[in-house]
Amino acid sequence: MQTKKFLLSEQEIPRAWYNVIADMAVKPRPMINPATHEPIKAEDLYPLFSKAASDQEVNYTDSFIEIPESVRDLYRIWRPTPLVRALALERALDTPAHIYFKNESVSPVGSHKLNSAIAQAYFCKQEGVTNITTETGAGQWGAALSMAAKHFGLELAVYMVRVSYDQKPYRRSIMQTYGAEVISSPSMSTKAGRKIITDRPNYSGSLGTAISEAVELAMSTPNCKYVLGSVLNHVALHQTVIGLEAEKQMEMAGEMPDTVIACFGGGSNFSGLAFPFLRHNLKDGANIRFIAAEPSSCPKLTRGEFQYDFGDEAGYTPLIPMYTLGHTFTPANIHAGGLRYHGGGAIVSQLKHDNLIDAVDIPQLETFKAATLFARTEGIIPAPESSHAIAATIREALKAKVEGKQEVILFNLSGHGLIDMTAYDRYFANDLTNYDVTADEIAAATAQLEKIL
Ligand SMILES: *Cc1c(COP(=O)(O)O)cnc(C)c1O
Repeated sequence: MQTKKFLLSEQEIPRAWYNVIADMAVKPRPMINPATHEPIKAEDLYPLFSKAASDQEVNYTDSFIEIPESVRDLYRIWRPTPLVRALALERALDTPAHIYFKNESVSPVGSHKLNSAIAQAYFCKQEGVTNITTETGAGQWGAALSMAAKHFGLELAVYMVRVSYDQKPYRRSIMQTYGAEVISSPSMSTKAGRKIITDRPNYSGSLGTAISEAVELAMSTPNCKYVLGSVLNHVALHQTVIGLEAEKQMEMAGEMPDTVIACFGGGSNFSGLAFPFLRHNLKDGANIRFIAAEPSSCPKLTRGEFQYDFGDEAGYTPLIPMYTLGHTFTPANIHAGGLRYHGGGAIVSQLKHDNLIDAVDIPQLETFKAATLFARTEGIIPAPESSHAIAATIREALKAKVEGKQEVILFNLSGHGLIDMTAYDRYFANDLTNYDVTADEIAAATAQLEKIL
């Protein structure tokens, strides 16, 4: 039997996160104030986020930022995560490519999201915050933050996108089990929610709307901070434990990846796996390829516009420089709820703009076909989000076969799909479709953007 699994000891959990911005020749543009277009400083973010997260958000100089010991301590519940060579999948594809995956699905909540949830909850606690609020799409971020909030004794209110609240009741149960309050978004509890319910009574919700509601609650509640699970620089930073571990594990396997792949919602799991490897391109002249796999129904990196845009539907956030479909874009109700976000983070968007990373978009049915093959070969049922990375990996592996190329592919298994079985049921019942966005739809949503760049 060939070795399949590469494991690190607890001592090898990273001691510092990797801040790729410090090594980028062209830095991401700063977030700006929507009214004045002045760059946002850390102090401007203090009312909304913890100070530590705000400072990390605008840190353009330190390549490595120390992980607090209490955070590392909690990481030890499930980290380091395994790196696995997907030999059975390779065999099924009859490909000369070597396929590895980093298994972030082994966290207690089943996804990578806990890597940042723990850090952010810890910072809030340190700074004397008592209440935190957030949004969640498919529920993974909400589940992760619920666990972290409980550990640090914080009260948490989660705005959950309505379509997921209805489709994924067990994620709601998980959050409630950890003691969080879960509210279906849009809700009547905020101005932003009431407005959208009035304008569009049957609206199934979006991450953009849920963010508006959570931000509004944080701004109007004393001693309450808002915590975000993707998109922002500090979230990408926390997720780099994934890639830092994977680097050591690829070394154990005696290989370096030629291609690194992750699915893409707002960019946190992609950044987490990719940035430590990208460092080799930026610093040592390596030539690793990076592919962000996004849904065809929400193709911001492949078909969006590089422009300043709001992070939320109502326009409460600073303007973020990113590839965006426009903050009013409403993605179809695909089952990969975590990928239904209109924009990509500032760092990833800049990297894409400078051709330092690639992106592909993948139709829903192809992702479920890939997921099913992965489950039947590697034994793990992937999250519908992660299935985009698997589908992109399969495309690469089959291309390597045609070209007879010995390619080494590494992808991130960002989460498992055991709470997404409704989606699989519908796939097996031939009840799922692809949703292709027309050029007109994208043009209509991006036409509303203020042209700053
Ligand atoms: C949230 C989520 C994603 C998408 O978010 P990113 O910030 O782009 O990583 C992908 N996979 C899983 C399992 C998720 O929970």
